[in-house]
Amino acid sequence: MISYDQALQRVVESVSPLNPGETSLHEASGLILAKPAKALWQMPRCDNSAMDGFAINELPENFEAGLSIVGASYAGHPFSGHVHPGEAVRINTGAALPENTDTIVPIEDTIEKNNKVFLKGTPKQGQHVRYAGEEYRAEEILVNSGTILKAGEIALLASAGVEQVCVYPRLRVAVISTGDELVELGQTPGPGQIINSNLHFLRTRLFECGCTPICLGIGADDQKTLGQLIDQAIDADLIITTGGVSVGEKDHVQATLQNRNFEKIFWKVAIKPGKPLLFGKLEAKPFFGLPGNPAATAATFELFVKPALKRLAGEADVLPEKRIATLTHDVIGGGKRQAFLWCSLQWDKSEYQVTVSQRQGSGQNRCLASKNAILSVPTDVKSLYSGDRVEVLLIEGDSCLGHSETSFAMATSKRSQATELRCNLRHNLLHKRDPQRTRGEDL
Ligand code: AMP
Ligand code: MG
Repeated sequence: MISYDQALQRVVESVSPLNPGETSLHEASGLILAKPAKALWQMPRCDNSAMDGFAINELPENFEAGLSIVGASYAGHPFSGHVHPGEAVRINTGAALPENTDTIVPIEDTIEKNNKVFLKGTPKQGQHVRYAGEEYRAEEILVNSGTILKAGEIALLASAGVEQVCVYPRLRVAVISTGDELVELGQTPGPGQIINSNLHFLRTRLFECGCTPICLGIGADDQKTLGQLIDQAIDADLIITTGGVSVGEKDHVQATLQNRNFEKIFWKVAIKPGKPLLFGKLEAKPFFGLPGNPAATAATFELFVKPALKRLAGEADVLPEKRIATLTHDVIGGGKRQAFLWCSLQWDKSEYQVTVSQRQGSGQNRCLASKNAILSVPTDVKSLYSGDRVEVLLIEGDSCLGHSETSFAMATSKRSQATELRCNLRHNLLHKRDPQRTRGEDL
């Protein structure tokens, strides 16, 4: 059985970034820039005021005589006249500096009387002026390729008139849950049935990672129905199944793939939870068969699927971020497989502290709630002790949005979520990728 490190290396080696394409800035939040984005014009576009006050061109010879107010320059409404010595123009923040003026006197440093303004002190020439091009010049590179477009980058590019950007596409990820025992949220589980909770973990994490989940529903434990769902998934950029990859007689994922164009890269990794993880390429698309136990699904998503998503999305650093933290209590290790334990990482004054969830059953969802990190315990470590300095992997939700503008809750308020999911699968798969298309396809 291969180790975590070997398996991760194979995943990273096998996945390459998708081809970039042009998309509108409006649709680019959370995506990675594939070509540098340049300013269409300089900013500020013209000299303008940084304060509400008065624009003057030279100091009055006689302060007592004041300056005549000859007009006003408001943001969006520039003053078009000429300003002579002894004159001032009322001005607002962001308004263009009138010709012939070079200094702003803030309103609080003036007294206004009879259409004249009197200065309380001596202003410094050039004060409170924002000069044309001081923020950036036309044609200047504002955002480099490889950068995730978050709110700050998007606003910067918008200010520079950039309407289209070249980005790696938003990833469309197909999710298929397998298991005769599964029912969708909204249905009452009958005897022996459980809710398809893995779908909700994956769907939420995919949104958090800036992807568009394509939720294909539940595949029964038989090759025919499972095969039909898998065939629908091949339009996606990456395919995830949960359950049915172990050695039980009802584990049909591998057998179903065998009749298709599937290249197996590995099956089984020496980790706990998540040992039966299957990874390969289906029609050249990365395919992850995640084990069905909720904590195993979640761990294998974080450990393997997340780096693959980052790589497909064009990110340079795909491996999980790590932190060194102090353990707050003892942890028993010593298993035959590398263990990955869900934990809470907190900054406490001068160091990170890590507390491992008491409930680590791979069949449980409970250990996943409120956890922001994973503690790895290597096989040769018998125990870890309170106060030990340990390395933990961060579970970040890095790429920003990706959320549908119609929220899941809103869209499903009338119909059951199960029905909604099934309806949308069909709809999603009819559409090929189009970088212009709006987000949130799984609704
Ligand atoms: P499997 O990997 O199919 O053998 O499933 C292992 C365990 O995970 C079983 O207890 C399943 O009932 C459970 N399980 C499988 N799929 C899901 C799912 N989508 N949501 C919640 N639990 C699941
Ligand atoms: Mg199963």
